[in-house]
Amino acid sequence: MATSAKLPRADFLLTNAGRLVTCSRRFGEGLLGVIEYGAFAAAEGEVVWVGQEHYLRGSVEVTPDAIEVDAGGAAVLPGFVDCHTHLVFAGDRSEEFAARLRGSPYSAGGVAATVAATRAAGDDELRALAWRRLERFASFGVTTVEAKTGYGLTPHNERRLLDIARTLDHPVEIVPTYMGAHVIPEQYADAPDDYVGLVCDQIEDVADDAEFCDVWCDSGAFTVEQSRRVLEGARAAGMKLKVHAEQFKRTGGAHLAAELKATSADHLEHATWEDAQALAEAAVVAVLLPGASLMTGAPFAPARMLIERGARVALSTDFNPGSSYSENLQLMVGLACIHLKMTPEEAILGITRHAAAAVAREGKAGSLEPGAPADLVVLDEATELALAYHYGVNLAARVFKRGVEIV
Ligand code: FE
Repeated sequence: MATSAKLPRADFLLTNAGRLVTCSRRFGEGLLGVIEYGAFAAAEGEVVWVGQEHYLRGSVEVTPDAIEVDAGGAAVLPGFVDCHTHLVFAGDRSEEFAARLRGSPYSAGGVAATVAATRAAGDDELRALAWRRLERFASFGVTTVEAKTGYGLTPHNERRLLDIARTLDHPVEIVPTYMGAHVIPEQYADAPDDYVGLVCDQIEDVADDAEFCDVWCDSGAFTVEQSRRVLEGARAAGMKLKVHAEQFKRTGGAHLAAELKATSADHLEHATWEDAQALAEAAVVAVLLPGASLMTGAPFAPARMLIERGARVALSTDFNPGSSYSENLQLMVGLACIHLKMTPEEAILGITRHAAAAVAREGKAGSLEPGAPADLVVLDEATELALAYHYGVNLAARVFKRGVEIV
């Protein structure tokens, strides 16, 4: 090998992947970029080479202390990306859930109960709760988690939740989102525009620390005009945008997301084909949350229509204490296949490359290709189809973040 001096250096090798599911557009076969008998090499936590194992040794210069991980013939995927969570909160709403199942029409406090418990909790308690949740996310193969504020609803408490989320110091990467406009707090019920003003005032202060600004645009939450005020302010402050749109009713959030070139529009249970068209044309990722539909008995989002109109669809748990309390992102693949009528390949893209696009990290998460981090999941199965087929159980055997085993 006369050219070895020019070969990329590798301190991490993943070998013996029966199916290396790159989720890249540049490598492998099919929608998921699958390489049979695949391998990849990384240096300092970043992928430098992917291909068939047969070519590995001649393609990289392996350092003497390199770590080699033998996948044992299993399917290997990029670490999963959960692109929509409400990670930091305190309180327990299991009684409210049980009351709903017993037929109680009244939700015992709802979001307000979580807000009260969150405000009352100390920083250390909130940090410990969020940390435990991240441990569970990681156990399911999730290596990147978007985390929204929104259970503080005062400038002081929203700032506190943002600071806790972005300083958790956990191996799972956090994408911090400011969501002061989650719901209108009780004390502003008669003056919602005053609360919107408060949120707009806080945007300057959080713009350097929160990557995204999200608004719940819906009936019972913020109107399109209120949402626009917040999102335009956030955009002017240099933040990227997300919108909770068309969940309970179609109010125009998807069109607003398209008009403002938001990174994602999330929920979309009541989106129409015009909404799908607008999202596709504006390259806004449609983030669908089948767990929330499952647990509240609400309609499932029209995934097929969104895909057929050309929108990119991502999937997420919507992890939150009210409508979807689960860190099991793998389960969303099965739900998406059965209830959203997505193919397994589309659903797996939904928790990898498309989910990365929903947090503006395409090529930097959710795929295995040169330049991406060595975030990976070794499945307990020979095929990635098991993520849809072998449902409700955890199929992540080993999980690595930037080449370091975290589970
Ligand atoms: Fe949500």
